[in-house]
Amino acid sequence: MLSAFRGVPASPGIVFGTVYLLRWEVPDVRHRIVADDEIDGEIARFHEALEAARVRVNRVRRRAERRAGPEEAAIFDVQLSMLDDVELVQGTESYIHRNIAAEKAFDLVMSEWRKNFARHSLPMVRERLGDLTDVHIRVLSLLLGLPDHDPVDVPQGAGAILVTHDLTPSLTVQLDPRAIAAIATDAGTRTSHVAILARSLGIPAVVGLKDATTRLRGRERAVLDGSTGTLIVDPSEAEEDAYRRRATQEALDDAELLRLSHGDTITTDGVRVTIYANVDLPEEADIAATSGAEGVGLMRTEFLVLGRTTMPDEEEQYRAYARVIDAFSGQPIIIRTFDIGGDKLPTGGYPVEANPFLGWRAIRMCLDEPELFKIQLRAILRAATHGDVRILLPLVVSVEEVRATRVLVAEAAAELAERGVAHRDQLPLGVMIETPAAAITADTLAGDVEFFSIGSNDLVQYTLAVDRGNVNLAERFTPLHPAVLRLIRDVVRASEAGGVQVGVCGEMASEPLHAFALLGLGVRQLSVAPRSVPLMKRLVRGVSVGIAQEAMTAALEAGSPQRAEAELRRRLLAAFGDAAFLRDGLLAT
Ligand code: PEP
Ligand code: MG
Repeated sequence: MLSAFRGVPASPGIVFGTVYLLRWEVPDVRHRIVADDEIDGEIARFHEALEAARVRVNRVRRRAERRAGPEEAAIFDVQLSMLDDVELVQGTESYIHRNIAAEKAFDLVMSEWRKNFARHSLPMVRERLGDLTDVHIRVLSLLLGLPDHDPVDVPQGAGAILVTHDLTPSLTVQLDPRAIAAIATDAGTRTSHVAILARSLGIPAVVGLKDATTRLRGRERAVLDGSTGTLIVDPSEAEEDAYRRRATQEALDDAELLRLSHGDTITTDGVRVTIYANVDLPEEADIAATSGAEGVGLMRTEFLVLGRTTMPDEEEQYRAYARVIDAFSGQPIIIRTFDIGGDKLPTGGYPVEANPFLGWRAIRMCLDEPELFKIQLRAILRAATHGDVRILLPLVVSVEEVRATRVLVAEAAAELAERGVAHRDQLPLGVMIETPAAAITADTLAGDVEFFSIGSNDLVQYTLAVDRGNVNLAERFTPLHPAVLRLIRDVVRASEAGGVQVGVCGEMASEPLHAFALLGLGVRQLSVAPRSVPLMKRLVRGVSVGIAQEAMTAALEAGSPQRAEAELRRRLLAAFGDAAFLRDGLLAT
């Protein structure tokens, strides 16, 4: 029987494969009493599970060591020491001696530990809660014989379509990216970081499937279509054929788009638009550079930190930035300082907050930890000797944050000069316009910065008070809401009046319909996922700013996101007699 799951298109591409269901959550454990003569057997079973868990953690540890070095691998030592902990072993054994089955005995001890860890006065202990949960899941699933509870089991080379509830940083580090052909998650939206990361890694993905992990059993044959956000399980032959034809067509379209992607991007009425690429990982730089992008409009440096326990040092950061700058030989590279926090947190060492999206994050955290911030600034100033580098600050709400950063940039430059290290000290400084505060005071900010970059993902989230990662709110996350459109219009006006450049680097820039709206609002610089560069170039070359402005006036007057969308869609489709390259999924908002 064919069943189709519809979710949110997160990263394009069609994959035929086998569902690998991963339930990375503490399983429910039934209370089970064992007879006196079963006690020794239960204790032996418990020790076997501990040993098997050690083998698995060691395997992940070795992989982490190969990928990220010995320091990163050390995070798994905490889990290994928990597995050897005398109190844990004795506590579990003592429950078993009271005729409680091994899995329940272990579950009881771990639940007590979790309570104590969560309440502990030392932050260092509270931060180990994630490790404790990983150990809890791993040992319990071994004791219960659950097949789908360990990331080390994802089979390599079998075209696994990984289906899981959410891809948290703790889970991401444990996965072997070579084993995963596609990703499908219950949680997440187009602007959540799973989606952004999947796009940057070029792994097709569908998110926001809500209940796929409870409805699937694992090992089903499936087709995942990242452009339309569909997961078809047990497809019929006819269905598979149709998808194969589409996959071939997509490959042809991509090749055609790539052929057209080089050279300037000028609208039919002669307006030049710059298309930059967003780069999330240094490894992406070469692909991004061949996409036809004219530079990097956003390098998200926090991906250097995610899933690690320690911050990368100056040398490592310098090499990562230089790699991207070199790939783009002389084109502008906008490096955004660490946007850590919200749903982008390194492992451990950071406070658990009730409201992380409104919390101690991004520029706030960097300014409160100046020594840590200056490591990054020094690395950027050094890398700037390789090309045209600009610094972008995330989550800015006031001009004081910009001024405080300038002081630290000057200090970082002085420190490098003192060490006799080659660097540049006068780099353009810009701010993300991604809070209503920044958007409304853009005229003031313009006096202190060289450029603006509109982060529509957060600007929409904070303006509409809609969590960008909450799948239940996905339909309420409407970039064409009049409040958002008016803010963007006013930011563009403030940038023109203040003589600063403005671009958009959020997901709005990658959606054809939204990009059309942005052209109508006066935006002339778009920064998009590397894979979207050719598409956006083709789009811009096929429209006129005059029509986009007309569509935007109608959209603003329309008063609701749905009516605004209808106004824009009608005119965009009219501009393209053949809208074939505007794939359905990309047009959906
Ligand atoms: C944004 O908020 O639009 C943005 C580009 O930044 P991020 O998605 O990394 O928060
Ligand atoms: Mg943002």
